Amino acid sequence: LSERLSGVFERLTSRGALTEDDVRTALREVRVALLEADVSLPVARDFVRRVQEKATGQAVTKSVTPGQQVVKIVHDELVAVLAGDGAEIGRLKIDNPPAPILMVGLQGSGKTTTTAKLAKRLKEVEHKRVLMASLDTNRPAAMEQLEILGRQIGVDTLPIVKGETAQAIARRAKQQALLGGYDVYMLDTAGRLHIDAELIQQAAEVRDIVSPRETLLVVDGLTGQVAVEVAEEFDDKIGITGVVMTRMDGDGRGGAALSMRAVTGKPIKFVGTGEKMDALEEFHPERIAGRILGMGDIVALVEKAQATIEAEEAERMMKRFQKGRFNMNDLKMQLEQMLRMGGMEGIMGLLPGMGKMQKQIAEAGFDDKVIRHQIALINSMTKKERANPQILQASRKKRIARGAGLEVQDLNRLLKMHRQMSDMMKKLGRMGKGGALKQAMR
Ligand code: GDP
Ligand code: MG
Repeated sequence: LSERLSGVFERLTSRGALTEDDVRTALREVRVALLEADVSLPVARDFVRRVQEKATGQAVTKSVTPGQQVVKIVHDELVAVLAGDGAEIGRLKIDNPPAPILMVGLQGSGKTTTTAKLAKRLKEVEHKRVLMASLDTNRPAAMEQLEILGRQIGVDTLPIVKGETAQAIARRAKQQALLGGYDVYMLDTAGRLHIDAELIQQAAEVRDIVSPRETLLVVDGLTGQVAVEVAEEFDDKIGITGVVMTRMDGDGRGGAALSMRAVTGKPIKFVGTGEKMDALEEFHPERIAGRILGMGDIVALVEKAQATIEAEEAERMMKRFQKGRFNMNDLKMQLEQMLRMGGMEGIMGLLPGMGKMQKQIAEAGFDDKVIRHQIALINSMTKKERANPQILQASRKKRIARGAGLEVQDLNRLLKMHRQMSDMMKKLGRMGKGGALKQAMR
């Protein structure tokens, strides 16, 4: 695959902004990579379409090819989709003890193993008292399996009572968790080889008995396409709060993670990486994205090129500041950089003393739209005005605002920001002359 890709990259030689053609050509290969990684077809198609729109027109970093640039954009988008807001990764809602956690999934997906792994983690990392109960009434061996694991990790299990229904066990676990002063009780439900009505019905009844704080779907990361149907069905019928992907120690590429995320919108919280009780990790979107795409070296290359350019740009700016110069062209560059870097973490983040200004800008509600307006205002100025913004009087202001399709007060806001920034730059420049700035940059 990577041979095929490098061929494509050689053919793409244009520089500047990514054309629709650049993007389409590179995305053809990306789509193949996604499908090879077991991302489901509709999800892959949808993802590629979104990136196509997003990537076209974006700037190509110096010294990388358009194809490589597209791969980097794809990678970042993958990470973004996989991570969501990232708040729930590696976390379980276990306030209001005893907090019930319901484990669901197909047979053999790793439910029982994962139940014990999570219990061990809750006990050791969060110092919680945990009770585990097996609801797998079809297979007595499964109940014993959980009991053995419990003994191994030093976590209590609900005593096994022969002939009880899953619902009765759930009630008893709830009772026992309350009486025994447990923080968390985990219910390991029965699985089947395929989703069927009875399995779903039982899980739904158990859910209604305990009102789980978390309903975690355990999915075998090697199953690929099937995982999506399973996730969709369980989320539809039971309502899941998160996913644990097991067998990520195998050589599956993990495409199911993207599909499940896209289809259910539920966070992937943990991954299982082996049979041992310690083989459980927090989900790392970056790692899975790398695995799905399988183009890690290209991503690293583009990141390196971008870092180099940022450092060069910072240095160039610094020289100007030291001479006490900061005009509208400089401001425009800053604003464009902010857009490229997705908001506040522009070049300013690289400069000492800039954190405070970034915060001010952020507090002023400075989103992408505002930044684009600011740039439009600067574009609407003449060369002379950009170099000397102090010459802007009422009539010039009106013309500039009209040219950008905005109000004079928008322009005034821009001018105020420019004034504040040049003051800051002057201070930095003075620091620089004394060598303090260079010191600070190190
Ligand atoms: P259940 O039927 O869903 O309860 O699945 P089990 O927990 O009994 O697991 C089935 C098999 O998969 C067992 O042999 C586990 O040791 C194994 N297993 C579970 N999780 C993982 C994992 O993350 N990696 C590997 N390699 N094996 C796992
Ligand atoms: Mg089991």
